[in-house]
Amino acid sequence: MINFSFHNPTRLIFGKGQLEALKTEVPRYGNNVLLVYGGGSIKRSGLYERVLANLSEIGAVVTELAGVEPNPRLSTVHKGVDLCKAKNIDLILAVGGGSVIDCAKAIAVGAKYDGDMWDFAERKAAATDGLPLATVLTMSATGSEMNSGSVITNDDTKEKLGWGSPFAAPVFSITDPEHTYSLPKDQTVYGVVDIMSHVLEHYFHKPVNAPLQDGFCETILKTVIETAPKLIEDPENYELRETVMYSSTMALNSMISMGIVGDWGTHNIEHAVSAVYDIPHGGGLAILFPNWMSHNLNVDPARFKRLAVNVFGVDAKGKTDEQVGQEGIAALRAFWTSIGAPSRLHDYDINDSDLELMADKAVKFGSFGNFAKMDKADVLEIYKASL
Ligand code: NAP
Ligand code: FE
Repeated sequence: MINFSFHNPTRLIFGKGQLEALKTEVPRYGNNVLLVYGGGSIKRSGLYERVLANLSEIGAVVTELAGVEPNPRLSTVHKGVDLCKAKNIDLILAVGGGSVIDCAKAIAVGAKYDGDMWDFAERKAAATDGLPLATVLTMSATGSEMNSGSVITNDDTKEKLGWGSPFAAPVFSITDPEHTYSLPKDQTVYGVVDIMSHVLEHYFHKPVNAPLQDGFCETILKTVIETAPKLIEDPENYELRETVMYSSTMALNSMISMGIVGDWGTHNIEHAVSAVYDIPHGGGLAILFPNWMSHNLNVDPARFKRLAVNVFGVDAKGKTDEQVGQEGIAALRAFWTSIGAPSRLHDYDINDSDLELMADKAVKFGSFGNFAKMDKADVLEIYKASL
């Protein structure tokens, strides 16, 4: 393993009815709350009313920032920063999916910074402070509820960049599987793809001794593969929602990352696509990840074989590692297609006209990837294979 120092400061408050914890947790941070949410799903589900009722019982003063977009925009972050400064906000409460939470993270550090928080995304500066941020999660996908990462789209430059800071980690997150009952099928599927992709990004780590980490990855993948098809048929099943919700948090809260460095190349090439075409992150990953895998099969065929055998049950007898690995990649693609995920860029009406533009965005900070180094030519090949 590589040396590591592990610290996760987020209090995870998991399960049915845990929204009530707002009444004990919020007052620890103050009275002035900025409530951040998206395009209205929390109003339709009734969660908005319940959050406000809890906050009113403790006498919190609530300012609202509504309308955070999927693939949250820098202009919305700026609105939130202005509100924090004008209203002397003590705590930001994000109620929604990864987009709402990521936007709230950017607001939290932006409110304590004299410049534009985009500097952090551009790697020109690092945050040194942040307002406390808490979350009520409504979608199992990103793990953003228990990590310090965020992804923001600059609407002026059409760039989508990931960034992170210890000052962006939520102080607490309430994750009640019932809050995900209202998710439409397509978002449930995108979430499943994102969860599995986070695990795969870890699984394709730099070659170090990591048997336990590899086992964690395989178990999360197998659990999600077994659960997701049942959940799609039975979306208000508590135990199925619970399994997927816990899987999503565990896939990206650093518990499986200790001692390893994951690849993260596919996330990078997906961000470049959704920067230009504003497609759902999970949809983009479903298209690209199997093609990243085929492109990099030769980097370490034994790793792909292990995935194929241990997760997808591929029979390896009498076959080369490459053949078994390729069957595993086909099995991943078939699974995602079976639950309704897209498989081609054409599914989002994306043709070859912007491949160069997207590839340039993907290599903004140079070549990337830790399992497989990728440059612009590699990215273009993967985009072409994904059309
Ligand atoms: P999302 O963009 O937050 O939400 C997608 C859609 O689902 C929105 O239209 C939202 O509607 C709706 N929705 C959410 N919860 C719902 C519910 N319970 N019922 C009905 N509709 C609901 O999706 P996400 O996949 O969680 O987040 C995607 C973003 O996170 C991308 O920008 C991606 O790049 C980023 N990401 C971040 C990390 C990280 O670690 N920080 C990791 C991976 C990806 P409303 O807007 O109306 O609520
Ligand atoms: Fe992701």
